[in-house]
Amino acid sequence: MEKRTRRAFISSLFSLAICGMSSALSSLYAGFRERRALKPSLEKGAAKIDQISKPSYLELHKNGELRKRGEELWNVMKSCRLCPRECGANRIEGEEGFCQASSQLEISSYHPHFGEEKSLVGKGGSGTIFFTNCGLRCVFCINWEISQEGQGEPRKIEDLARMMLELQKKGCHNINFVTPTHYSAHIVRAVDMAAQKGLRLPLVYNTCGWERPEILKILDGIVDIYLPDFKYSDGKMAQKYSSGADTYPEITQAALLEMHRQVGVAKPAGDGLMYRGLMIRHLVMPGGVSGAKGVIEWIARNLPKHTYLNIMSQYIPMYKAFQYPEISRKITRKEYDEAVKTAKEAGLTNLDIQGPWFLF
Ligand code: SF4
Repeated sequence: MEKRTRRAFISSLFSLAICGMSSALSSLYAGFRERRALKPSLEKGAAKIDQISKPSYLELHKNGELRKRGEELWNVMKSCRLCPRECGANRIEGEEGFCQASSQLEISSYHPHFGEEKSLVGKGGSGTIFFTNCGLRCVFCINWEISQEGQGEPRKIEDLARMMLELQKKGCHNINFVTPTHYSAHIVRAVDMAAQKGLRLPLVYNTCGWERPEILKILDGIVDIYLPDFKYSDGKMAQKYSSGADTYPEITQAALLEMHRQVGVAKPAGDGLMYRGLMIRHLVMPGGVSGAKGVIEWIARNLPKHTYLNIMSQYIPMYKAFQYPEISRKITRKEYDEAVKTAKEAGLTNLDIQGPWFLF
């Protein structure tokens, strides 16, 4: 009896252990399944977007606001003031502005891009669309064939909408409009069409930063991620190297404040991808031409300290840069390190800093 009792006791302990293990295993499995269900798919960019951050243009599409904003921007082209040149070309009647764009949309290429910031690229790439022409026209432009020599093809707005859907289907995590300013009216109209057909990806406005705040206000609620350059802190430099754009610093500062008001600080989601926010780029130029110190200190004084700032070291002389001896070289390690030091001393905490392998 005693033996039976001991055996029964041991056997019940064993059963309890098995039960415990199996219940622990099943709750572990349930937890795993739950986490898997919540984890957004990196392979299919659009698949889980709605769970994380639904792009706000979808609502504007549903209530007809997107169509109205497209019309509003279109009308600006009658005497064009889409960019700070405000050159007044009647693009609707076929005139070309300072940027060399008429109302005919021109696109150079579109594809998943893996060279952008990590949080935009993920595994599926950033769905970049490169627009032909540009209103800033820098002498050192790396994409000068596209921005200044007209490389690209005439396209319909429907084509642009189709490109976005194609990029989404390919698994890109966002639609990245490169040099969009002079075609903002076309873009908004195309987004309206693409949203109707199932576009769900966040929209990235990848710009030179020289944007009229009045035009940005029309894009409020449409753009999810602003990706502007802040190229110069000194208007004289902008005048010299960017076709007389001496208003660059003040206008860009006002634009950055407006962008920040709309989308706030950029913070990646749990899956490491960016869905919303302001991401600023500064390209350090040789000989202090870009005024890195002024740019960085302005950001630190006027925007939250955790504002995303990519300090870029990859300047290489291109296009007409060789006509200017002071910018016809790469930057030195010392020039780059000084910019980074300035940013740290200014208290900026969300820095994207490139390694020395980018230099020389
Ligand atoms: S977008 Fe082009 S046409 Fe319009 S104001 Fe700027 S330079 Fe002129």
